[in-house]
Amino acid sequence: MNIIIFGPPGAGKGTQSKFIVNKFNLYQLSTGDLLRNEIKNKTKLGSEISSIINSGDLVSDKIVSNLIEKFVSNDNYKNKIIFDGYPRTINQAKNLDDLLNKYKQKIDIVLKLSVSLETVKKRILERKSQEQRADDNEEIAIKRYQTYEKSSEPVIDYYKQSNLLKVVNGESGIAEINTEISGLIDAIKG
Ligand code: AMP
Repeated sequence: MNIIIFGPPGAGKGTQSKFIVNKFNLYQLSTGDLLRNEIKNKTKLGSEISSIINSGDLVSDKIVSNLIEKFVSNDNYKNKIIFDGYPRTINQAKNLDDLLNKYKQKIDIVLKLSVSLETVKKRILERKSQEQRADDNEEIAIKRYQTYEKSSEPVIDYYKQSNLLKVVNGESGIAEINTEISGLIDAIKG
């Protein structure tokens, strides 16, 4: 099965994706991680995108769709992907539909972790002290939350219309969220 997970920065998307990957034997495709790797490895793409990422804006659809196709086209990952941080725009969602069609796959469930801006601010500051991400500070956290709301809400509506969307309360503790997500995935696996 292929899964999409949505949530603002600090919602626990990364943590939950890792849990789902282990429990259901999937591969996590985090566009944020792939982009940060480009910066870390000082590639040409990395130098083009670092200022965009550090300011909390989105990089271009074209850049991320190229990264995505490498995964979707790879047989090892076929029907085993959890998309974390993608799609973030309607354009990306349509592109993903086209790509999945091309490689004879589909999305089976879309999870939305719902959390307030207050919780996000608190968690981002905690994460900053642990991971030292350049985009983890309060001002950028607010910007990323707003970018998320503005660009992702229409995408979430897009999946609501196709009845794939399940909303999960991201304010709960990690273990409770794990349990809720497992139940939802088990239910569609039948
Ligand atoms: P994330 O780790 O998912 O919060 O992503 C970190 C940053 O990478 C975002 O703030 C964007 O600048 C960029 N990014 C990640 N995924 C995407 C995407 N699907 N489209 C555009 N930009 C993205």
